[in-house]
Amino acid sequence: MFIADLLREKPVTVSCELFPPKCGTAFDNAPEVVERTVALQPDFISVTCSAKAAGNNVEMASHVRACGATPLAHLTCVGASKAGIDEMLDTLTLRRIHNLLALRGDIPADGPAERGYTYASELVSHIKARGDFSVGAACYPEGHVESAGLEQDLVHLRAKVDAGADFLITQMFFDNNILYRFLYKALAHGVNVPVLAGVMPVTNRSQIERILKLSGTTLPPRFLNILDRFGDSPIAMRQAGVAYATEQIIDLIANGVRGVHIYTMNHPEIAGEIMHNIRYIVEAGCEAQHVQRNVG
Ligand code: FAD
Repeated sequence: MFIADLLREKPVTVSCELFPPKCGTAFDNAPEVVERTVALQPDFISVTCSAKAAGNNVEMASHVRACGATPLAHLTCVGASKAGIDEMLDTLTLRRIHNLLALRGDIPADGPAERGYTYASELVSHIKARGDFSVGAACYPEGHVESAGLEQDLVHLRAKVDAGADFLITQMFFDNNILYRFLYKALAHGVNVPVLAGVMPVTNRSQIERILKLSGTTLPPRFLNILDRFGDSPIAMRQAGVAYATEQIIDLIANGVRGVHIYTMNHPEIAGEIMHNIRYIVEAGCEAQHVQRNVG
């Protein structure tokens, strides 16, 4: 199913993200991670891509599909030639993977080897012109790390939507008010496609330190207190991380957010706990959206 259609039809969606194993490392537990994530019945499962895991994301996304779930394959263009991207699109078409998250990717310190496409908006436009793909793109509630500010980033985000992006997935955030402000501003910039809120359950201190360095995401005092207090106790941090993500999602759905994307970090058991915690919330959210649509 095209994710664009799913988002039109379903009042509230919950999706999960997985990452493929690096090339040269064992693929052994990747099928099991996929199968256990599919068993949670998310609306779709996205699979990240990186040069280090080249090819494995197509394998993993294909396994998602073989298990009966809808895959969303991430595709980055940094360092790729136009011919290389076309080759990848042909492969994805052959594997009947019709949902893509079109990204630029992070620029390597020594610069990209190839410059087929400079920005994600160009990639979105190219994929849409080929047809037969539902295309999503990334967005950043606090602004992208390279941009001069949120306003400038929103202008570029609008270009991705104008190029044909059907939906957006946010970078993680830990203060829902940051997302709500972003959604208002995005709408004011003409960004009128569904925005799925990316939620990351933080279950260990080193994981978040690494991610913060790359993304520039800020941590609210409430979260910092949790990290300070429980960061050295893996079992307590895990419980607190699941509880924090659960609360974030409840608040998001209560405030009308229609899509939640869980950064599972390949831990289906953690995603499972969160999905169990929110099962009635999602049901009630769907009913509330139905009523709102029928009245409106
Ligand atoms: P772009 O939209 O091209 O934006 C990059 C920067 O360029 C921004 O600062 C933007 O404001 C600016 N810009 C855009 N257009 C213009 C223009 N015309 N003129 C001047 N400036 C411009 N990375 C991976 O390697 N693999 C993944 O699987 C992956 N998945 C991700 C999933 C999500 C949901 C998110 C939020 C990020 C993901 N990333 C992934 C990270 C992403 O690749 C990086 O954040 C990257 O630095 C930017 O990618 P982008 O697609 O947002 O780029």
